[in-house]
Amino acid sequence: MNRVYIKTYGCQMNERDSDAVAAMLRDRGYRIVGAESDCDIMLLNTCSVRDAAEQKALGKASYVSHRKKKNPDFVLGILGCMAQNRGASILEQLPDVDLIIGTQKFHQVPDYLDNLRAAREAGLPIGQSIVDIEEEAGSQNTIREHLETDEKKVSAFVSIQQGCNMSCHFCIVPKTRGDERSRPMEDIVAECRHLAERGGKEVTLLGQIVTSYGRRDYVYTDGVSPFVQLIEKVHAIEGIERIRFMSPHPRGFKQDLVEAYGRLPKLCEYVHLPMQSGSDRILRAMNRPYSSARYKEIVDSLRAVRSDMYFSTDVIVGFPGETEEDFQQTKALFTACNFDMAYIFKYSIRTGTVAEELEDQLPDEVKERRNQELLAVLKGNSLRRNQTLVGTRQDVLIEGPDKTGAHFTGRTRGNRVVILDADPRLVGELVQVDINRATISTLYGDLVLEGVEA
Ligand code: SF4
Repeated sequence: MNRVYIKTYGCQMNERDSDAVAAMLRDRGYRIVGAESDCDIMLLNTCSVRDAAEQKALGKASYVSHRKKKNPDFVLGILGCMAQNRGASILEQLPDVDLIIGTQKFHQVPDYLDNLRAAREAGLPIGQSIVDIEEEAGSQNTIREHLETDEKKVSAFVSIQQGCNMSCHFCIVPKTRGDERSRPMEDIVAECRHLAERGGKEVTLLGQIVTSYGRRDYVYTDGVSPFVQLIEKVHAIEGIERIRFMSPHPRGFKQDLVEAYGRLPKLCEYVHLPMQSGSDRILRAMNRPYSSARYKEIVDSLRAVRSDMYFSTDVIVGFPGETEEDFQQTKALFTACNFDMAYIFKYSIRTGTVAEELEDQLPDEVKERRNQELLAVLKGNSLRRNQTLVGTRQDVLIEGPDKTGAHFTGRTRGNRVVILDADPRLVGELVQVDINRATISTLYGDLVLEGVEA
């Protein structure tokens, strides 16, 4: 009873947490398996960002719990955001779930599984489910435990901060992830150095609101925020060639960060900057403390520093009370910013948020039309931008085989996906690629062979 399958729902933070849990379990002698049919223990690391995401995980848990009928020793655990959000109430619907572990308790998973395993091996009756969704001071620091066991990663997500204090009215994250907590700068730098020593070339600094990083723990130095100080330290690490981060908040995107793009060449010319709406009225209703003009000013100032900057964003269409005029303002800002990528969401009621109570919910057909209008703008932008790269030579970090297994996939500094033919020994290497074809989402190119040792 030591084969574990972890299924991850949701965002990169969850991917990162699942990686950490997997590494801690490996350290304890558990085997992480790649097929759910091979496991004795299934852990669902869940997402709460939308009601639909929770329903999906609940459906999966319900389906999987049938395995207990054939094998009473089978262990089913629910981790992460939905566990935090719903807690023991999950058991009303799914009494067979063994573990419900919240977002500040991932590091306890190995202990809880050890206890369950020991009880079963001793022939003790299968006891009550374990529910642990308490807050834990310093839990953000436990995520470095994966360091000793994690395999080489060409491109790694490094968690720098957890939680959020912003209270956007559509968002459940402050409830599921708790208050904003930053990891110590020296721990993050040590993790990045360790990744570089093992061949990692690219790090993405992850947090719910990275621009607030360390604001309670470190001071500004010569007008430079703790977040930019952290980027400077990571930038100094030999072997790290690319730095990205996700997600900043427009409110915290100050001039020191804009200027960092002009002086720190490893900081890739790609920014994911959530916009959410282009209507000031709706931004206020969402409790997003910036204006559409300020948002555009940040985008323009970044393009002034790096004219080849790539942008992606998050937008919600159909927020309660969004009029046609509000939407047209969103579309105008969306068009003016010329995004290369965007995650466009049709608003859906999220139980437990302020927006759940708002009147004037919009019909789905209105949301769908607005969604399609923005998608059409985005498709045009993405294709145009990709086509400008045809005939250019790009630095590409090769990440591994593509989905077909017949080619390799990598990314440009601007985060565009490139498909190419290469030698497997080039995985993890930065190479030059001549781009010869472009679609909306993908570039195709030929490896430049001069100087390549393969
Ligand atoms: S900034 Fe807003 S959208 Fe982002 S995690 Fe915090 S509350 Fe949610």
